Amino acid sequence: MRAVVVERLGPPDVMELRDVPIPQPGPGEVRLRVEAVGINFADVLAVAGEYLTRTRVPYTPGMEFAGTVDALGEGVTGVEVGQRVASLGGRGGLAEYAVSPAAALVPVPQSFTAAQAAAFPVSYFTAYHGLKTLGHGQEGEWVLVQAAAGALGTASIQLAKALGMNVIAMASTGEKLELARNLGADVTLLQDDPERVQKVREAAGGKGVPLILEVVGGKRFQESLDMAAPRGRIIVIGNASREQATLRPVELMKRNLTVTGLWLMPLMQDAEATREAAQALTALVGSGKVVPQVGPTYPLAESARAFQDILDRKTTGKVVIEP
Ligand code: NDP
Repeated sequence: MRAVVVERLGPPDVMELRDVPIPQPGPGEVRLRVEAVGINFADVLAVAGEYLTRTRVPYTPGMEFAGTVDALGEGVTGVEVGQRVASLGGRGGLAEYAVSPAAALVPVPQSFTAAQAAAFPVSYFTAYHGLKTLGHGQEGEWVLVQAAAGALGTASIQLAKALGMNVIAMASTGEKLELARNLGADVTLLQDDPERVQKVREAAGGKGVPLILEVVGGKRFQESLDMAAPRGRIIVIGNASREQATLRPVELMKRNLTVTGLWLMPLMQDAEATREAAQALTALVGSGKVVPQVGPTYPLAESARAFQDILDRKTTGKVVIEP
């Protein structure tokens, strides 16, 4: 089968398309015929060797993908060959076939295309945990969504609106802000607007924003502290700037701020939190309020270009690769 292989870490062009053996599912695993792979910023960082966990090479990237179950490993129950599923936490998605633990499968709503199914798990579960599980967002409250036109950003806007919250969206271009408005953002602001701190505080009623989904990091993290309302909650989800940030705890004390880290992978091991998020998301998908925003799609042979386009901030929605 064809698969993308990374032998040494680096920029996206280290990814090569090769012929490799079809993987066999081990005990508790299933094999999927891959139809669509959702590409996360985390995949780009992993290929560069800059992700939260060490990337071991050689490997095939792709942790989030959708397809049809094609073979079952020993001891797998409750899944059938031919069933359409998505995997969150499988391995080697950028290939014609990939293996996933059965426990990492997410049911796919009938209404979703393969690309939508692959665009769903990471962004929507992360957005839910940011807004609700850890962010404790309430109906009528303001939330600031950074990188608002990206995969997580578009998911966060949709979910926040579906949950009755008011959204301030920030992004780097006017086109990206237009997408945010189309998804329901109440206020939009260019990320480099010189008066952004003041404007965000005013938009949220003058005292600042009670909830911030922080994904840029670096010097922007200090700005998030400045934009937060007294007793505000800042959920640290990403560091797209790839710059270091500093935090002086006394600043949190002065305004009773809370800074909470969010990493989806370990949070998925929390069965209760995952069940609660899945229930809420299923209901919102069923009501038609939540529709994954599929961005540009690329063939497997153009995976490196897809990764480079994410790094160059050219994409909106979830980038999808279709083997
Ligand atoms: P996106 O599709 O949103 O792409 C990344 C976005 O980050 C771009 O749209 C761009 O938005 C912004 N960005 C890129 N480079 C820079 C830069 N140098 N400085 C400032 N902003 C930049 O990717 P994802 O949805 O996959 O991820 C978004 C963020 O959320 C990432 O930081 C990612 O690591 C994080 N994340 C974390 C998860 C977790 O479990 N903690 C799970 C999912 C995502 P713009 O051009 O508008 O600035």
